[in-house]
Amino acid sequence: LSERIQKALKNLTGKGKISEDDINKASREIRLALLEADVNFKVVKDFIKKIKKESLGKEVQESLNPGQQVIKIVNDELTKMMGETAVGLNKSKHIPTVIMMVGLQGTGKTTTVGKLAYHLQKKENARPLLIAGDIYRPAAVDQLKQIGDKLKVPVYSEANEKDVAKIVKDGLAQADKDKNDYVIIDTAGRLEIDEPLMEELERIKKVAQPDNILLVVDAMTGQAATDVAKGFDQRLDITGIVLTKLDGDTRGGAALSIRAVTGKPIIYTGEGEKLSDLENFHPDRMASRILGMGDMLTLIEKAQQDYDAKKAAKVAEKMKENTFDFNDFVDQLDQVQKMGPLDQIMKMIPGMSNNPQLKNVSIDKKQIAHVKAIVSSMTEQEREDPDILKPSRRRRIAAGSGRPVVEVNRMIKQFKQARDMMNKVTKGNMKGMGNLPGM
Ligand code: GDP
Ligand code: MG
Repeated sequence: LSERIQKALKNLTGKGKISEDDINKASREIRLALLEADVNFKVVKDFIKKIKKESLGKEVQESLNPGQQVIKIVNDELTKMMGETAVGLNKSKHIPTVIMMVGLQGTGKTTTVGKLAYHLQKKENARPLLIAGDIYRPAAVDQLKQIGDKLKVPVYSEANEKDVAKIVKDGLAQADKDKNDYVIIDTAGRLEIDEPLMEELERIKKVAQPDNILLVVDAMTGQAATDVAKGFDQRLDITGIVLTKLDGDTRGGAALSIRAVTGKPIIYTGEGEKLSDLENFHPDRMASRILGMGDMLTLIEKAQQDYDAKKAAKVAEKMKENTFDFNDFVDQLDQVQKMGPLDQIMKMIPGMSNNPQLKNVSIDKKQIAHVKAIVSSMTEQEREDPDILKPSRRRRIAAGSGRPVVEVNRMIKQFKQARDMMNKVTKGNMKGMGNLPGM
């Protein structure tokens, strides 16, 4: 997908102005790319129409070349279609705020109940109660109890009750008694939408009067997810969507389709199996992910905001000449600290998101302070020419900075990795991107 669009856009770079012919060519590629990403064809059609209209009416901004201008329009339009700004949960005026989780079997409902409880705990110091509303498989109740144990969050369940609506009612009474601020209801799923399931969910809805009905959708099911979302929404009038397993789906086409077809916002995304792998949904980031550009545009914006252009130019020059040294490294750390965690920044660069080396590059504030201490114990010559750092020098630096030798070694290794990676970025991946600011 990314290749396709980048190819289409490359054809546009370097020209003075976007012509109608350019737009037609680009939109043909973008249409194919979106269809390949499993976006619903009606949604694609609608989208292309908008893009044509937008692009043709617009002058190329002075600061952008035509290719960048098209990226911006496509990205803006995708973002708009997915809801523009991040949407949160509906909050009840009186506690508890009730959240009902629905969705097909295996989409990640139970996992998401746990993730959400963890998220609310961390963000709001919340005291949620979980209700085990999937009573057909004993394992489902155990699964939720295990999650509850891990989070130290109470789980309400009834062993011999066959009426789920009754369990939910009792669970809510328990939450009232215990003054829980959130109640999250796990429910059963099926392999596909069927009448008994829908009736049961409707009964739960009636009893619980939830402030939020979150439909959990597996992003990897792509196009099929659209019909499912429509079905659930028609019966239950869902309030929002959780798109799970995005860690396994690089295409994100489902997000676009579901949003367009249901008109309901995607509120969270699941990015892995761990309880901490829940993120607020950011339409702008998803748009650039669909375009296969990582979070390129976010990066451009961040770079524009935070990056000292002169320093960037100097560093780029140095990287090209392969003279990137420890002084630059420390400069970079300062800049990067302003922009956010380094591993996240690197993830935004196309082609870098799956780089295994990234695992070694996450750096926190304390580490940065240590790195600076180590660098300041180097001589000017050592800073400019890191390759002369033989063991005896390393031992001296360790003693001078008060850091262990292993840490000095590790830091030098990380520096070299960063240097290699930057070399790769300047020589390889960025080629198609034209003259992005700060790059
Ligand atoms: P439920 O049947 O809808 O309750 O689904 P579960 O919560 O039991 O999840 C089904 C499987 O999907 C489990 O193996 C989960 O670990 C996995 N899963 C859930 N969410 C995610 C996610 O965001 N990413 C990945 N990779 N796996 C997930
Ligand atoms: Mg479940």
